[in-house]
Amino acid sequence: MVQEAADRRAVIAANLQVVRERVAAACKAAGRSPDEVRIIAVTKNHPASDVRILAELGMVDVGENRDQEAAPKAAECGDIDLNWHFVGQLQRNKAASVVGYAHVVHSVDRGRLVEALAARSRAAGRELNCLVQVNLDPDSEQGVIGPRGGADPADVPDLAKAIAEAEGIVLGGVMAVAPRGADPRAAFDRLYEVAAVVRSRYPRATAISAGMSGDLEAAVERGATHLRIGTALLGDRAAIVG
Ligand SMILES: *Cc1c(COP(=O)(O)O)cnc(C)c1O
Repeated sequence: MVQEAADRRAVIAANLQVVRERVAAACKAAGRSPDEVRIIAVTKNHPASDVRILAELGMVDVGENRDQEAAPKAAECGDIDLNWHFVGQLQRNKAASVVGYAHVVHSVDRGRLVEALAARSRAAGRELNCLVQVNLDPDSEQGVIGPRGGADPADVPDLAKAIAEAEGIVLGGVMAVAPRGADPRAAFDRLYEVAAVVRSRYPRATAISAGMSGDLEAAVERGATHLRIGTALLGDRAAIVG
């Protein structure tokens, strides 16, 4: 057991080194400072012990996409100073639970969710940071929330306004997942445009959450400020589940 834990730590440390080098190289190529880009370790389907290892290795931002998994994990790691990012599709009835541990919700994609999060955040005396998730899949019909979630780009300004005006929550910026099977650069450029419109109205909403293990270079090149990295740090989730 002790050996296993040491091995796991060595694997994660090596992965983290590789990811940091990839981000540094991408920043250099784009003429950006690595200080402009935060790495969020997405720990879904990996145990709390991995979160602990990541914290020991200097990570402060962790991400989860399902409340059932995130809530107990965050509780188990309650003694560690971490920023929890909720990045998955969110049901209104989970708002209270998520507000209990999350510092940032990346996946706000409809008005009713804004109201629920704001009410729960106020009740908890918190100031939850909210990003508008943008649907960048050109194949999904207008107004239809695709399987990966996200608001239609045309609806983002109204949603941003609702978040900015709601008491108890703060508008942090925008987030997207690049559609599968297409060049992520086109999607991230679109996100950048949407982000610029939001930022022109709300100058403090500077976050652009984009980029995962497979497309982080494209995201950095196209202006991402937050990367959500799972597999490249913790390995294949399918091998661990069960
Ligand atoms: C799982 C997940 C990630 C991390 O993806 P990897 O490809 O494993 O790096 C990022 N964003 C969201 C919304 C996710 O659900």
